[in-house]
Amino acid sequence: MSTAYPIIEHEYDVVIVGAGGAGLRAAVGMVERGLKTAVITKVFPTRSHTVAAQGGISAALGNMGDDDWRWHMYDTVKGSDWLGDQDAIEYMCREAIPAIIELEHYGVPFSRTEAGKIYQRAFGGMTTKYGEGTAYRTCAAADRTGHAMLHTLYQQALKHQAEFFIEYFALDLVMDDEGGCRGVMAWNLDDGSIHRFRAHQTVLATGGYGRAYFSATSAHTCTGDGGGMVLRAGLPLQDMEFVQFHPTGIYGAGCLITEGVRGEGGYLTNSNGERFMERYAPSAKDLASRDVVSRSMTVEIREGRGVGPHKDHIHLHIEHIDPAIIHQRLPGISETAKVFAGVDVTKEPIPVQPTVHYNMGGIPTNFRTEVLNPSDTDKDRVVPGLMAVGEAACVSVHGANRLGSNSLLDLVVFGRAAAIRAAEVVEAGASHRSVPQSETDRALSHFDRWRNAKGSLPTSKVRLEMQKVMQTDVAVFRTGESLEAGKKGMEQVWSKRGDINVSDRSMIWNSDLVETLELDNLMAQAVATVHSALNRKESRGAHAREDFPDRDDVNWMKHSTVWVDVEKGTTRLGDRPVHLNTLTNEVQTFPPKKRVY
Ligand SMILES: Cc1cc2nc3c(=O)[nH]c(=O)nc-3n(C[C@H](O)[C@H](O)[C@H](O)COP(=O)(O)OP(=O)(O)OC[C@H]3O[C@@H](n4cnc5c(N)ncnc54)[C@H](O)[C@@H]3O)c2cc1C
Repeated sequence: MSTAYPIIEHEYDVVIVGAGGAGLRAAVGMVERGLKTAVITKVFPTRSHTVAAQGGISAALGNMGDDDWRWHMYDTVKGSDWLGDQDAIEYMCREAIPAIIELEHYGVPFSRTEAGKIYQRAFGGMTTKYGEGTAYRTCAAADRTGHAMLHTLYQQALKHQAEFFIEYFALDLVMDDEGGCRGVMAWNLDDGSIHRFRAHQTVLATGGYGRAYFSATSAHTCTGDGGGMVLRAGLPLQDMEFVQFHPTGIYGAGCLITEGVRGEGGYLTNSNGERFMERYAPSAKDLASRDVVSRSMTVEIREGRGVGPHKDHIHLHIEHIDPAIIHQRLPGISETAKVFAGVDVTKEPIPVQPTVHYNMGGIPTNFRTEVLNPSDTDKDRVVPGLMAVGEAACVSVHGANRLGSNSLLDLVVFGRAAAIRAAEVVEAGASHRSVPQSETDRALSHFDRWRNAKGSLPTSKVRLEMQKVMQTDVAVFRTGESLEAGKKGMEQVWSKRGDINVSDRSMIWNSDLVETLELDNLMAQAVATVHSALNRKESRGAHAREDFPDRDDVNWMKHSTVWVDVEKGTTRLGDRPVHLNTLTNEVQTFPPKKRVY
């Protein structure tokens, strides 16, 4: 098999797959610590989805009022609905402060207060004094924070001389006989060559899999390729039932209108013109956490109070805000609303609907970003040589639900943590042990099979069917019945997998084949999502089941793990305990005097 494809060999201390915020921050740290580092990315680095992040990045800097990282930790544990690992959450919230200062020094052009400090806005679920007041914790560069961060991090990565392999598509991990990872296979989309990267640490920073759904705020490239590679290597994913819907995707198009809009005073109304969030969340109102707002909107729509001819969406108002403020703080969304909804935000409301926004689930890791392969005797067993960071990973700081502005933070804190850990375990320049040929063959036969797929169904058709099943039956509201329908629907989609047709057999810029490889990754994760959701018989965070409306800490305060048979589309389910331990005693005052749940 492998003889059919000549292979170009590379050796690095570290290879990072993905050049979004997570991959780039990891790359800077790796090179800083003297590790020879390659970064592989299927799109140009600054086109990664991180570029689209609008609202900002959280850190208890206290620039606009009192703040404390322990309050940030409290909010994050609570936001995670007690599914987040508290050691990892403590690490993230503490490290947030130096991480933001570091970004500032790298050159991120943050918005400023009158006094010249980094501007911070209110975001849903972010409080002071353990839930008492509103925290101004989200650092912003207008409404283009991800754009500012990604460009700065790319410049830093270039300055530090990370070696980039741009428009290379990573195919599969190269594992060894002891269950460790030795590198990754990749396909150069531009000249069609196949590459084997050997590395002491392989870091997956491939982003989320939002495109398993029909309406998603994420880029078309968010196809969970890292998760697909992990499943094909026989490793599990974790907490895949937890999919966050953002309350305010533009109706129809899915494009995001940031929560920052509500942070600046925007609010939602139903067809009666009522500010209905006052009923569902009397104190947080429009800034309640995303699952609460998404579910409230869905209830309004289901009960006939949606707006528009089909009564199927909601209005978001900012016409009352001074146009000068909108222009200064929210210029991007004004343009997005104009282009995708034909609306002038200074005069009329924006039509919005809940839209898939973030995957809390992903590749399980510890707070050092090492990938885990739990066994019966060791639920925290590390996979040597493999790390995961960013949205691809489940570290898990977001647990059952992520708070807005905690993901950009996750990228930089854990990107840096990966570099710190790699420097501890990797000896720079050490020689590479041989890798089994069977692993190269495994990657190439997978690739070759799709390249020569001669069925009758175009990839786009099967993809659309999958996206419709997920959107209809595995969305905001879930019941045993809807999830069974979703499971059956995915079985039907899976049965068509063998009949997919790839019409282009060339090796150069074969987008038909790229999309098919991506679909294969998405399908495995769609199946993992439905099966995990059906299995979890409680409501927690973003996973809300009408037939099990309460959180059940006795039986379900645990992470779900899922292995997928990537040929049959079947799963094996397991679980891991949530880390309820903290890293230090400094959080002894946490949780505070009053009962938190
Ligand atoms: C519209 C939008 C707005 C958001 N706003 C905010 C916000 O304000 N605050 C916040 O905290 N979070 C926000 N989020 C969430 C946050 O932006 C994302 O979770 C985060 O940017 C993901 O970063 P990442 O580095 O993990 O992945 P990405 O930025 O998605 O990058 C993935 C990288 O992996 C590469 N890759 C993937 N597959 C392959 C492959 N097979 N081969 C080679 N390379 C591959 C891609 O080329 C890319 O470089 C937002 C998300 C969206 C969609």
